[in-house]
Amino acid sequence: MRTEHSRPWDVPGQEHAAAILRGACARGEVGHAWAFVGTAGVGQEQAARALVAALNCPGAVEGVPDGTCDTCDRCRRGAYPAYWEFAPAGTVHRVVEVREQWLAAAYRTALEGSWKVLRILDADRMNEPAANAFLKALEEPPPNTVWILDVADPEELPDTILSRCRVVRFSAWTPAALEARAAELGLDDDIDRALAVRAALGSPVTLARLAAPGGLDDLRSHRSIPRRLRGQGPGSAVVIARELDDEGRRRAAALGAEGKAELAALEDLYGDAAPRGVVRQVEERSGRRQREARLSVLQAALDDLVGWYRDCLLVRTGGDPADALNADDADALRADAAALDPSVVLASVDRVLQTRTDLELNLAQTLALEALFLDLATVPVR
Ligand SMILES: [Zn+2]
Repeated sequence: MRTEHSRPWDVPGQEHAAAILRGACARGEVGHAWAFVGTAGVGQEQAARALVAALNCPGAVEGVPDGTCDTCDRCRRGAYPAYWEFAPAGTVHRVVEVREQWLAAAYRTALEGSWKVLRILDADRMNEPAANAFLKALEEPPPNTVWILDVADPEELPDTILSRCRVVRFSAWTPAALEARAAELGLDDDIDRALAVRAALGSPVTLARLAAPGGLDDLRSHRSIPRRLRGQGPGSAVVIARELDDEGRRRAAALGAEGKAELAALEDLYGDAAPRGVVRQVEERSGRRQREARLSVLQAALDDLVGWYRDCLLVRTGGDPADALNADDADALRADAAALDPSVVLASVDRVLQTRTDLELNLAQTLALEALFLDLATVPVR
């Protein structure tokens, strides 16, 4: 299915970054490496795909792709043979992936297109041997090849690499941009939309999660955890941990269905002759999203919980519940704020944030959650 018309450089919330990239294309000064610096998921993917379209669309004029041709359509879907995305297979990028995947793709002749774009997700998570191997490619850039490094924390990337990249900043979304997207996503109810916009904390990815079916129900369930632990006692810790497990599984299943749809869309684009590299990219992306789903659900749940505890502190110290992130549930907020001593709330926040970090490394995630909720249930109540 072909989109009738799209403007590849209309990257919501990132007008500044898009203008810099578009200008570089227009002047023919794209260079060979860019660092997209900012929190993940605020528009880097769309900007990278616009760049590959701008460089390869046969109808591009002054750095602006026509947005209507077959090349633009495939770029927009991340299904163009000269575009790659590489994510860490584990917690870091390793040298074996740099050599066997990144550099192999960079030095191979592309099946199609005159410019290659290779995007490294979480580029600030390269270990030292990987960074050294990659540096060599940056020092001797293959022609017509652009690297894009997605970087959340520039301090984590060696200076030798960062200094060879042009830096473009990607900002968190403004409330107005989130509000507009929330309406597009079908959040028609005023209370729901306001809650989703506040809880998204500048991230359109978080907003999309909240706007998905059941997303706000999940948020409301997460913030009821302190009340449940108080009312039902430590025994509920295991039940709550299991509920979060189920939520992760549901999310992974939804993403699996999305991945299948993306693969089916390749048939529309290529018939039965989709290049193997493109199919592999789409499959890997879908697999990665499903693998990450469980962890991201658990971390989101803990973020919701921290948001609730912070609101409790706000109310307890005399703040107006209308200013709270969870302003739509002011009565429950007042009740929890009255029941939980501020020192307990602060200790609880620390405990939750520690667990959030542990989850990234810990395979026994359910156990870590059970231990967390047990601790939260047994803190002294005023
Ligand atoms: Zn085009």
